[in-house]
Amino acid sequence: MLSKVLIANRGEIALRILRACKELGINTVAVHSKVDADLKHVRLADESVCIGPNSAAESYLNIPAIISAMEVTGAVAVHPGYGFLAENANFAEQVERSGFTFIGPTPDVIRLMGDKVSAIAAMQAAGVPTVPGSNGALSEDPAEIIAVAREVGYPVIIKAAAGGGGRGMRVVHAEPHLLGAVSLTRSEAQAAFGDGRVYLEKFLETPRHVEVQVLADGQGNAIHLGDRDCSLQRRHQKVIEEAPAPDIPEAARREVLEACVRACVDIGYRGAGTFEFLYENGAYYFIEMNTRIQVEHPVTEMITGVDLVREQLLIAGGEPLSLRQEEVIFRGHAFECRINAEDPVSFLPSPGTVTAYHPPGGNGVRVDSHLYTGYQVPPNYDSLIAKIITYGRNRDNALARMRNALDELIVEGIKTNTDLHRELVRDGEFRRGGVSIHYLEKKLNS
Ligand code: ADP
Repeated sequence: MLSKVLIANRGEIALRILRACKELGINTVAVHSKVDADLKHVRLADESVCIGPNSAAESYLNIPAIISAMEVTGAVAVHPGYGFLAENANFAEQVERSGFTFIGPTPDVIRLMGDKVSAIAAMQAAGVPTVPGSNGALSEDPAEIIAVAREVGYPVIIKAAAGGGGRGMRVVHAEPHLLGAVSLTRSEAQAAFGDGRVYLEKFLETPRHVEVQVLADGQGNAIHLGDRDCSLQRRHQKVIEEAPAPDIPEAARREVLEACVRACVDIGYRGAGTFEFLYENGAYYFIEMNTRIQVEHPVTEMITGVDLVREQLLIAGGEPLSLRQEEVIFRGHAFECRINAEDPVSFLPSPGTVTAYHPPGGNGVRVDSHLYTGYQVPPNYDSLIAKIITYGRNRDNALARMRNALDELIVEGIKTNTDLHRELVRDGEFRRGGVSIHYLEKKLNS
């Protein structure tokens, strides 16, 4: 068992990790930027270290400062949460070289999955379905590029091998625009990521976002924890997630879940991870793997009873998986609404002091949040302030509880997107389930 864990993150996820550590009797170290000294988990941690000024580059992304904090405090492992350094292979490597444990996969696996071209190749080798496309980086030869696009069929999407966060992608609807789009995406990718390799995929018009949660111990054992639907998005940012993904034929679901487990064993995966797919007309298409815990992990926890962060900590401590596939029992349905400190009309961040905070409660309601009355939401970071999660015996019941929970939630002093959520959980199409990734933006623009 790990004796002391440093939490290299902030906000709700840092608190989530702290709680899991405390439950296991693991000592905790919080690191924080100057403005974050009053974060809830900083106050609750056994020790805390200020690692730099407010800018993320000088604090939460400051690798030497984090490793020094581990040395000073005697932490043996670091949990990166999500965002910041969570998928940075160089960070994982430096942590390990310094003699500490990185709570996540090995640097090699992070690198393999961080490069979309190599990730897709690894998935194809493991029998995971991918999007029809160039099967590798595009060549420099214009005739070859045109031939690949013709074979795949328009529309196509050009994507940077090193892309991420919805950047480095361009849709092409017809051949006259193809070569221009390829060279533009190449030069943008070169400038943004220092890697100009791009590849081509079929552009799916109305897919859903369906993803698969896995756990693997790096000792040859892997399991899946079912799927989630995260199609309700704005600008590639997820807004509401649910588990399981509604209205999917059981045979197709089982096939993809099993393929993901095989892929984990194939690539030597360790820790918690997510395979992201686009799902259209009954077929799955792998787009990328996230090699970390995700924001929406609680919906999976609600329907399986498995504590994913606890499992991450146990695996990092060298233990084999604590449960077998047959022991994962799926029951009921869960939703998560991401409450952001943002203007409901412009969607711009709305930092400031929380003058009143009343979280919802009741049967089947979980709130993951670092908020408290008097807390100042700083302008420097992501605007996520709370995750409202509800569980129900079925989808309608979970949704009914979410309507109640959102109606109970009070956050005063700052603007939030709570009203948007209240509207969405009453939306007819969303209530029926299975809307596409374009549904929310279309609704917002209408
Ligand atoms: P990132 O790593 O930048 O998030 P992804 O590969 O996950 O990139 O793609 C981000 C989003 O772009 C997807 O969630 C989807 O909305 C859209 N997208 C990516 N590939 C395709 C595709 N082949 N067809 C349609 N939409 C796509």
